[in-house]
Amino acid sequence: MTTALTSLPAVAGPVYVPGDEGYAAEVASWNVATVNEPLAVVGATSAEDVAAAVRWAGTLGLPVAVQATGHGAARPVKGGLLINTSRMTEVSVDPAARTARAAAGARWSQVIEAAAPHGLAPLSGSSSQVGVVGYTLGGGVGPLGRRFGFAADHVRSVEIVTADGALRTIDAGQDAELFWAVRGGKGNFGIVTAIEFDLFEVAGFVGGGIYFPGSHAAEVLHAYRTWSAGLPEEASTSVALLRLPDLPALPEPLRGAYVAHLRFFLLGGPEQAAELLAPMRAAAPAIIDDIAPLPYAAIDAVHRDPVDPMPSRERGVLLGEITERTVEHLLAQAGPQVDVPLIMVEVRQLGGALARTPAAPNAVSGRDAGYSLFVIGLGVPGLEPVVDAATARVLDVDAVPGGLINFSGGADAEQIQANWAPSDRDRLLRIKHAYDPANVFSSGQPLVAQNT
Ligand SMILES: Cc1cc2nc3c(=O)[nH]c(=O)nc-3n(C[C@H](O)[C@H](O)[C@H](O)COP(=O)(O)OP(=O)(O)OC[C@H]3O[C@@H](n4cnc5c(N)ncnc54)[C@H](O)[C@@H]3O)c2cc1C
Repeated sequence: MTTALTSLPAVAGPVYVPGDEGYAAEVASWNVATVNEPLAVVGATSAEDVAAAVRWAGTLGLPVAVQATGHGAARPVKGGLLINTSRMTEVSVDPAARTARAAAGARWSQVIEAAAPHGLAPLSGSSSQVGVVGYTLGGGVGPLGRRFGFAADHVRSVEIVTADGALRTIDAGQDAELFWAVRGGKGNFGIVTAIEFDLFEVAGFVGGGIYFPGSHAAEVLHAYRTWSAGLPEEASTSVALLRLPDLPALPEPLRGAYVAHLRFFLLGGPEQAAELLAPMRAAAPAIIDDIAPLPYAAIDAVHRDPVDPMPSRERGVLLGEITERTVEHLLAQAGPQVDVPLIMVEVRQLGGALARTPAAPNAVSGRDAGYSLFVIGLGVPGLEPVVDAATARVLDVDAVPGGLINFSGGADAEQIQANWAPSDRDRLLRIKHAYDPANVFSSGQPLVAQNT
């Protein structure tokens, strides 16, 4: 591979190489444990910039990575070209068609804000700070998922720059195989410059969280096990064992605490919510219970994910059901009495519309699972072996085959491929070979390992 930079791409946005003043800020990720070191970074301002950058990389034989927010930055970019799409933030809503179009750098908060005046909402996830495109290409499982499906299930069209440098608009009729692959196969097929997708008539919900003391984690997990299995599709839930930092931004009783955090979202009214929640409220005394009727714009209140950049290492598996054995295992490996550098162990309910094949089938994996089990560890230099060992112990559970690419963290290509059933994996690899034979795009969650 050629590594000498004989020129830099002619683009409207800035281009930096190591040593330039703007380089560090341009390559920085939200996940600050990931330190990117590309040979050059392009701050793209348009689809034309992206196409010019990809063509330039092609002439030098460089791999091309992409970053919007850095929320999914689990594997550092070493060498090659990084395209930063964070300037491409255009969002538009068509209320009559109930669709939105978001450019590569847009965050969910922008779509939520633009859709809300029309009584519409997107299939966003637990944090509105996450990028629309990265989330959606990885499937995208959010609070409306059990009712309407994965975000990728409702994508109408995708604008993408492929390895040949061409900008294509693809949909179920145009480049249908690529359209199938990119909705679920994530960033392995090209740089997406914009997507168009459905919005839903959702103005509000009843939701929020109940924080239980860590000393009651066993009662909470055992109750959640049976309770969640009987919920209607209108309800989405998860429970997280959290080791919270001692920060003034948190309410006093949560600072530095170990808690079991039940997240609850219901497309329904307060009375139905109270009825559904009764068994969980009876399971243990709450530290905080803030479940209330809210506008969709307040969706972040369900998970209360961190907003500020943080260092993390993540991995996940899928569960068919939560058995008593699963609960005992989670408590033994990550309960309040265990000293492990894990920030979060989350069990998130899937099922409902997430389990159904969408009208326009796609490459989203994990439809058969009942729950996702996801672990976030502290991404502190030197602590990696301890974090990874603790994470592996938690995930050494009665899992079902497959995984969610958005919750695969820094998995390698072989592990990423194992997210899919063999027939879908082989189809993805065929499409990958057809559109990106030189494996130009393998950043993030790589389907094919990059040659070094
Ligand atoms: C706080 C937090 C909450 C989250 N909640 C959820 C959730 O509820 N549900 C869920 O499904 N996931 C969730 N995720 C995971 C998230 O969806 C993925 O990490 C996603 O990749 C983030 O996209 P990004 O653009 O913000 O991140 P980035 O780090 O900028 O991008 C990550 C990867 O996305 C791909 N990508 C990004 N932009 C493009 C592009 N223009 N073209 C092609 N590929 C691209 C690339 O593979 C890239 O490496 C969460 C992550 C965090 C940190």
